[in-house]
Amino acid sequence: MDPKLQDLKTRLLEASDLDAVNRVLSWDMETYMPPGGGAARARQSATVAQIAHEKFTDPAIGKLLDDLRPYEESLPYDADDAALLRVTRREYERAVKVPPAFMAQLYSHMNSTYQIWAEARAANDFARVRPYLEKTLDLSRQFAEYYAPYDHIADPLIDMADYGMKAATIRTLFAALRGRLVPIVEAITDRPQADDACLRRHFPEAGQWAFGLDVARQIGYDFERGRLDKTHHPFTTWFSVGDVRITTRVDEHYLGDALFSTIHEAGHAMYEQGIRPDYEGTPLGHGTSAGVHESQSRLWENVVGRSLPFWQHFYPKLQAIFPEQLGDVSLETFHRAVNKVERSLIRTDADEVTYNLHVMVRFDFELQMLEGKLAVADLPEAWRERYRADLGILPPDDKDGCMQDVHWYGGIIGGAFQGYTLGNILGAQFYETAVKARPAIAAEIAQGRFGVLLGWLQENIYQHGSKFTAPELVERVTGGPLSIEPYLRYLQGKYGELYEL
Ligand code: ZN
Repeated sequence: MDPKLQDLKTRLLEASDLDAVNRVLSWDMETYMPPGGGAARARQSATVAQIAHEKFTDPAIGKLLDDLRPYEESLPYDADDAALLRVTRREYERAVKVPPAFMAQLYSHMNSTYQIWAEARAANDFARVRPYLEKTLDLSRQFAEYYAPYDHIADPLIDMADYGMKAATIRTLFAALRGRLVPIVEAITDRPQADDACLRRHFPEAGQWAFGLDVARQIGYDFERGRLDKTHHPFTTWFSVGDVRITTRVDEHYLGDALFSTIHEAGHAMYEQGIRPDYEGTPLGHGTSAGVHESQSRLWENVVGRSLPFWQHFYPKLQAIFPEQLGDVSLETFHRAVNKVERSLIRTDADEVTYNLHVMVRFDFELQMLEGKLAVADLPEAWRERYRADLGILPPDDKDGCMQDVHWYGGIIGGAFQGYTLGNILGAQFYETAVKARPAIAAEIAQGRFGVLLGWLQENIYQHGSKFTAPELVERVTGGPLSIEPYLRYLQGKYGELYEL
């Protein structure tokens, strides 16, 4: 290997190790850390973030990238080294715009805010977290300013999560989707409603936990290279290709919460576990965008995890764990219950059809806050207004209103939510392509065999990590650009049948 390429890889590995160290600190904070660890943890995380940023933005890396450009240009676009140099250059040029001291300040603030949010949310006390959120907004605006000029202040922040996307592109896409979704929601609400009372009986935690582990294992999440723990707001994190962890939360009076969030996070984790091991420690060694990541979590959670074939296989096992609660509930009733469509309060529990309406509320609020048109102080009232208008439901409190999602309280404001809807769209598009290539997928799932689908996803999507951008990947896999049509076909087919539309 060219000594310069070797030198570059060594430097990238150091920066990547420090990022992984910070994810360990953050995983621990969100799972097992006692409250007394809070202040020191915020400082430790900030220290590591600053050193990681200094390592990655070292001018020596810029010099190596310059020196290696002729080599990169001699390679085909698809070559691994070409991708490594291309993606590293893109991330390096983005990172050098931001001073390391700012990264330290941002990490310290994000960690402190997360801890305050966890307490304030439990106490339904928005006033407590409000000054922190105001500072988050200031820091998010400052973060975006490093990338000026831009068309919209949210553009640089959206671009960090979903490379190549802008506020304007997403607004147009969301408007088109909304125009097609609202009539489906209205048609469904005109029909007799599914009864999901069977999910709201008492389901002791131990049984839910055992079932969640079994489902995650069977669909293909590798516990030799991962583990499941409890948290406030479920997430996936990774320290290496050999250690990709998932988290969940359990509600003993609602079976759907732990179950579907576990499948969701297992979807994210199988993507990370499926990346080629030789990409580890480089900018290629993680999922390519928020939207593609969510396409995998949402595909496994919904397209697979709420399908009839999936429950043909798993429902007898679930009934065996909860014979008193589910013994009198038929497979058909259960399948309808987990697909009940209703305008509801909580994004993470929302059904597949109304889910995007929750995302659009948050996306619009991010833009308005960044534009200076919505003050943090006015967020709770704006939230209530918008939920009444868009979802026809009035949040009873801020806990399940504007404090329900961790994103703004553990990260920045901007770019945090569009990935979910992009994921719904892409998940359906990828799945439609997979079924065309492997028509037996649904029949295999009904037999409890998930390897045909997982193998196709690994081969076509997971192994590549960040080698291709999301638009490149979609084009390669599906033969065309991102399209809302497969998602709408999927919804119309599934819910047309369930609700006899
Ligand atoms: Zn997710």
